[in-house]
Amino acid sequence: MKVDTLIIGSGVVATALTKRLLEHTPHMSILILEAGNRIKTKDFGIWEAFQVTGNYPFPQIFDLPYPERDAPGENRLIGESGQSPTAFTLNGGRAMAYGGSTSVWGGWTFRRKPEDFFLKTNTGQGLDWPFDYDTLEPYYCQAEDYLAVSGDSKDKTVPRTRPYPFHEFPYSYVDQPVAKAMETLGISYSHLPIARRGVSKVPSTHAPCQVTGTCDYCPFGARYLACDYMDDFRTWNDYPNLTIKLGVVVMTIRMATKRRAAGVIYRQTSTGELVSVDADRVIVAAGTFETPKLLLRSTSKEWPAGVGNDTDNVGRYLITHPYMIYAGSLPLSPDKMQWELDFPTLVSRYFDTPQEQAKGKYVLVNAPNIVARSVAQMMQAGYSNAKINRTLTGAVPISLHGMVEIFGQYENRVTNYSKLNHLGMPEATIHFRQDQAALDRIQEIGGVVKKIFEAMGGTYEDENPSVNSWRCDHAASTCRMSKDPKDGVVDGDLRVHGTDNLYVCGNSVYPNLGAINPTDTVTALAFRLGDHLNAAG
Ligand SMILES: Cc1cc2nc3c(=O)[nH]c(=O)nc-3n(C[C@H](O)[C@H](O)[C@H](O)COP(=O)(O)OP(=O)(O)OC[C@H]3O[C@@H](n4cnc5c(N)ncnc54)[C@H](O)[C@@H]3O)c2cc1C
Ligand code: SF4
Repeated sequence: MKVDTLIIGSGVVATALTKRLLEHTPHMSILILEAGNRIKTKDFGIWEAFQVTGNYPFPQIFDLPYPERDAPGENRLIGESGQSPTAFTLNGGRAMAYGGSTSVWGGWTFRRKPEDFFLKTNTGQGLDWPFDYDTLEPYYCQAEDYLAVSGDSKDKTVPRTRPYPFHEFPYSYVDQPVAKAMETLGISYSHLPIARRGVSKVPSTHAPCQVTGTCDYCPFGARYLACDYMDDFRTWNDYPNLTIKLGVVVMTIRMATKRRAAGVIYRQTSTGELVSVDADRVIVAAGTFETPKLLLRSTSKEWPAGVGNDTDNVGRYLITHPYMIYAGSLPLSPDKMQWELDFPTLVSRYFDTPQEQAKGKYVLVNAPNIVARSVAQMMQAGYSNAKINRTLTGAVPISLHGMVEIFGQYENRVTNYSKLNHLGMPEATIHFRQDQAALDRIQEIGGVVKKIFEAMGGTYEDENPSVNSWRCDHAASTCRMSKDPKDGVVDGDLRVHGTDNLYVCGNSVYPNLGAINPTDTVTALAFRLGDHLNAAG
């Protein structure tokens, strides 16, 4: 088999890129290879079962938790002592399925800020991007249209040339004490942009959000999910040469010469059969862990250390967001505060500024568990009406969520492990050392949260924030972009240094992450790559 374009992975990157390529050249032959399988979306029965049991319907799309995995590769901290072996967790932090991690994502859809493209210049840390914010800005607009983002177009936190496609969601009731406290302290806040389709005059095959508040499984498909959009290519369009194969793991990229990729060898998981495919160009969109692992195991005479790895950068500089939940309480809740939505509506990017960049920018989000009391559970537990009322009006737990920027370290790395996981994919070995400066920063942010809680009339109960997740949801930087091949893996066009027709697109190419979620930016990069490939012919 021979195709024009071969894409590895079927997440948002693969889907946005395929859209851009097929709209330009409808007859282009594109082969998408995805290790995972189809999960059923927009299904009432699955939604109902999920509501009743609370169990996520598709556990098979996640990595096994440590230490239940088939092999101890994941999370094994090589040569480190005194740290938990689960310090960098894959389980729950990525989804391996048709549609990739958008199957489980929250849809928070932030833009990076202009200074995020110049971390090295501004702080001496990491690396600058090969291009600036203005280069990416038009693609941010396209990404937000595509992801169906609801946001505040008047918000000046980040410059924009076009309004969001849908209006912002109003601040919820539980935002009000937080907003008031922030105002008292002079901390700015704004509406959180979120990928939830609104109502508009533009016809769409995707339903608008009904605010059911059950977003871990949306019964309507109002939260962007890549496989729903991938299906559109086949349902609503005439793209005769698009092929999507599920349940196949790409094992190696074959190189015809040092500079040219010839194609790939994939493994059919159900049979173990190895199949070779030829392609004019290969795009790796397999996520932050699998992309470098694939490059590393694609060894040849020309690339003895793995394709693109002559400078030993592939898989290095692994970063994520330490995710903090700062907990406290309010003494009384006379209005019986409860969550209205299953997604946040208020964010403060007050500390996401050039002034904070050297220490690590951070954002604070009023996320849905600020009031974690379930009336349904109290009723199931047989509480009387009076007791439920007393509970709802009494002391109430509160929390603020935070994400903080950390900086890439050369030693923090992902590589292949010798055993295969439940999808037939080589497992990962992660070498990750938590940086003391980041841990100190997390404590310091606790001091700011304490002031916010006190301004709300509450107390901060978590002097040593205990819920610091180092999960891989926002993992990045393992194939970082660089102008100079000695500093990274891909160039500003996302082409692997030293090759002509091999590209990487994903969070792995970010030289740094900033303080915000990555997917708006990666979708913008996918559209930009599509334009580059269309221009190249
Ligand atoms: C729980 C959770 C919540 C999140 N919330 C947010 C949020 O609110 N906002 C935000 O911006 N981001 C969020 N993210 C991150 C977001 O989901 C990712 O940034 C985005 O989905 C990445 O898309 P991608 O296409 O680059 O890769 P992925 O979605 O990771 O897709 C890669 C695909 O490649 C396949 N693959 C890998 N290796 C191979 C191989 N060798 N052969 C064949 N196939 C292969 C995988 O199975 C996978 O399906 C969240 C992530 C998680 C897990
Ligand atoms: S609130 Fe969540 S689950 Fe409900 S329609 Fe909107 S996106 Fe879907």
